[in-house]
Amino acid sequence: MSAAFPMLDPAPPLPHAGNVERRLADGHGRILTDLRLSVTDRCNYRCVYCRTGNDGAQFSELPLADYARLLRIFVSLGVEKVRLTGGEPLLRQGLLELVRETAQLRSPFTDEALDIALTTNGHLLAPLAQPLKDAGLSRITISMDAVDPETFTRITRVPGSFERVRAGIRAAQDAGLGPIKINCVLLRGYNDHQMEAFAEFSRAENVIVRFIEFMPLEEDRTWSPETVVPMKEIVARLSAVRPLVPLPANHASETARRFTFADGRGEIGIIAPVSEPFCNHCSRLRLTSDGMLRTCLFSQSDHDLAGRMRNGASDDDLRSWVRSVVQRKEARHHIGEPGFLQPSRSMVHIGG
Ligand code: SAM
Repeated sequence: MSAAFPMLDPAPPLPHAGNVERRLADGHGRILTDLRLSVTDRCNYRCVYCRTGNDGAQFSELPLADYARLLRIFVSLGVEKVRLTGGEPLLRQGLLELVRETAQLRSPFTDEALDIALTTNGHLLAPLAQPLKDAGLSRITISMDAVDPETFTRITRVPGSFERVRAGIRAAQDAGLGPIKINCVLLRGYNDHQMEAFAEFSRAENVIVRFIEFMPLEEDRTWSPETVVPMKEIVARLSAVRPLVPLPANHASETARRFTFADGRGEIGIIAPVSEPFCNHCSRLRLTSDGMLRTCLFSQSDHDLAGRMRNGASDDDLRSWVRSVVQRKEARHHIGEPGFLQPSRSMVHIGG
C-alpha cells in the first residue's frame, strides 16, 4: 500500500447483542421475532375504550438500563423488531437514550440493525419527532380514533387533544418518520361514523390508516361483541364509497389486511383479532413496564423476568429462562368463546 494513500480507520462495528445457537421459538413452532416493550403504564389520555378515567398507573417502571439489558438479551435470541409502547411512552424521561442504544444493536441472525417502532398517542410528539428520528427510530404509529375534534375529545377526554395530535403527525412527516401509521379503534356508536372520513384522511395526508377491532382489554370491562365493528363491515362500508383494492402482506406475521384504492392513493389496514384472528402466525412477545414477560395479550399471568434479573441472574440464565417460558406460549386467544377469561392486565398496563 502506497504511503500516499493512508488507510482510513474502519468504522467501529456495531455491537452485536451476543451470539446464540438458535432462534427463540414456542411449542407450536412459531418463531418469535417481535418484542413490544412498555416503558411506562402512565398515560396522559383517558380513552373511553381503554381506561376508566379514574385509575392511574398501577405498575412500576424499570431503570432504562435494565430495559436496554433485556433488549440485548432478546435480540441475542432472535428478536428483530422492537416496538416501544406504554401507557404513553413519550411520558418516559430518557426515552431518546433508549432509542439511541437500541439503534446500535444488530441481529446476530441477520447482521442487520433492528426495526425500531414507537406507538404513541401523539400528544407530546411535535417537539420530539425529529430527535426520535435522529436517535434511530425507524417508524412511528400514532393512535387517533377520530378525524373530527369533537368526537376525538369525547374519546380521549382531554380538551385540545385533536390539535396536539395533528401537530404531532405533521412533525413526524417532516422528520421523515413516514410512512406513518394511524391506529383507529372502531367502537360502534362512538366513532364508526368516521370510517369513510378516515379513508379520505389517508389519501389526503399520505398516511396508512389502520382500523383495529375493539378487544376485551379495557380497564372498565365494558366490552361486548356488539361494540366491535368487524372487518367485513369495514370493507363493505369503505367499498361502497370507493372500491378497495387488496395489497399483499408485507411479511408473514403481518397483523393487518392491507388495501388501497383503484388510483393507488391512500392505504387502509384492517386488524381483525376478534373476527379473523391471526394467532397461528403470531411472532410477538411483550415486556411490561415492570419487567414481566407476557407471551400473549390475553395471558392469565405474567412471568417475572425483572425479578430474576434483580436476583442476580446472568444473561445466560435469563436466556434459558426466557426460552422455557416462551415454549409455553398460548396457542391462541379465546375472545367470544364461552368461558373466555379476561386477561390478568388491561391494555394500558401491558403495552399495546
Ligand atoms: N399510548 C400509546 C397510544 O395511544 O398509542 C400506546 C399505548 S396504547 C395501549 C396502544 C394501542 O392500543 C392504541 O392504538 C390503542 O388505541 C390500542 N388499544 C387500547 N385498548 C384497546 C382495545 N381494548 N382494543 C383494541 N385496541 C386497543
